[in-house]
Amino acid sequence: METIRWNLKNNYLYNQKAIKGAAELLKSGSTVAFPTETVYGLGADATNAAAVSKIFEAKGRPQDNPLIAHVATKNQLTRVVDTYPPFVDKLIGVFAPGPLTFVLPSNGTCVENVTAGLSTIGVRIPDHPVACQLLTESDIPIAAPSANISGKPSPTTGNHVWADLQGKIAGILDAGPTGVGVESTVIDCTNEIPIILRPGGITKEQLETVVGSIMIDPTIAGDQPASPGMKYKHYSPEVPLWLVEGGYAKMQQIIDEEQKNDRRIGVIASTRTTQLLKVDNIIALGWGLPEIASHLYEALRTFKEGDVDIILCEAFPEEGIGQAIMNRLKKAASVYI
Ligand code: AMP
Ligand code: MG
Repeated sequence: METIRWNLKNNYLYNQKAIKGAAELLKSGSTVAFPTETVYGLGADATNAAAVSKIFEAKGRPQDNPLIAHVATKNQLTRVVDTYPPFVDKLIGVFAPGPLTFVLPSNGTCVENVTAGLSTIGVRIPDHPVACQLLTESDIPIAAPSANISGKPSPTTGNHVWADLQGKIAGILDAGPTGVGVESTVIDCTNEIPIILRPGGITKEQLETVVGSIMIDPTIAGDQPASPGMKYKHYSPEVPLWLVEGGYAKMQQIIDEEQKNDRRIGVIASTRTTQLLKVDNIIALGWGLPEIASHLYEALRTFKEGDVDIILCEAFPEEGIGQAIMNRLKKAASVYI
């Protein structure tokens, strides 16, 4: 299949044409990748089972891992869900559009392979002009997981999507790098107290300011997570990743030891830590946690098989968006020391 690539520029007319073209593809049952504020999504009409199955095929995604449905407005949200508790309206008021996915009772509008046969549906309103225009233009709920091959780091640029899915999908709207850089927070809103199923772009602390008490699914780190997708291998770079607690001194010690064993090391760390380390191959993610989140997946994709033998990555504080960063890094790591 030839993949159409629209490179969106500051050209209103061209962009309008691209979005119309992408919406037509979606409405005719094809798959299109598009940017959101978190990562790129691979979209298909969430009311069309044959279209949705193309997402699973292109990504090699396990069938029992449900997809998130994306809608343009709160009004469109109520098209796909059944009644929900009042605290959801408060959360929507503050965090939608934004990187927060609500798990709510499904009203059956989205087909079974979107929800993996569950009675609930994950739905969110993305906060990115291209995603919003595409959803408005197509006027359908769009099922969209991250637009990468399953198991790899999620795509935060059009080039990442192109590298993974070129020839396997009908189109891509390329608008350059996304902003947040890690996926949405998934929150189960089917009980009286909301439960975080996946940490993400909206932090626990932010949610608490709106709804008071909130729980974190205790199985997030366990073997049987409540969110089906959390159990699979995820975010894996081409080279084994070692996640290192204990700051730059411990990292330097490991670098020196492994280099003595003739192993080539690539390092990923905060800008501050990179300034203290002595090693050739090093990627600085930025100063604060939000900047680190936005550059994380790009960094995980940079070191290729053959370039280095091990990637060493610094462990970050599990506060604010650091919870999402560390959740992804623990899944990506083969060693956590
Ligand atoms: P992705 O779109 O690749 O970021 O993955 C979507 C995430 O949302 C996965 O972790 C899914 O398991 C989770 N998810 C989607 N729908 C539901 C649902 N109805 N119940 C629980 N988790 C869900
Ligand atoms: Mg994903």
